[in-house]
Amino acid sequence: MLTGDERASRQKQTLDRIAENRQRHLEALIEAARSQPITDKISCGAGWIPIIIKFFRAADKHSDLVLISASEKWGLLDLNYHVDPSAVEAVRALAQAAIDETSRTCETCGADGNLRTEGWRKTLCDHHALGRGKE
Ligand SMILES: [Zn+2]
Repeated sequence: MLTGDERASRQKQTLDRIAENRQRHLEALIEAARSQPITDKISCGAGWIPIIIKFFRAADKHSDLVLISASEKWGLLDLNYHVDPSAVEAVRALAQAAIDETSRTCETCGADGNLRTEGWRKTLCDHHALGRGKE
């Protein structure tokens, strides 16, 4: 049987190892993202690409932004990026503005849209929502 202290010590070692792995993973991810063209990291409909590019250009002015991924999640834009700690607040505001914009922009064509909650959550215009068969 382990004493309470031994158990706590082992638990801490495990947590340290997880944190170390996560950091190494993150570094590898950032490194990979750097060597790829921006389009390889984007997985969403064409309608949102201008929003992502606008975010990227604005955020990149604040610091050396690394865009890890930009994808659709639950009908909204999900941004994953690495930024200098000094610019975290400013870039977070830009990211939130981009996400807000995707909540009213059709992911397929970029026209005015709404978040549709029937079936898969998607932000779509009336035209593209009609083709989904669940309206
Ligand atoms: Zn549309």
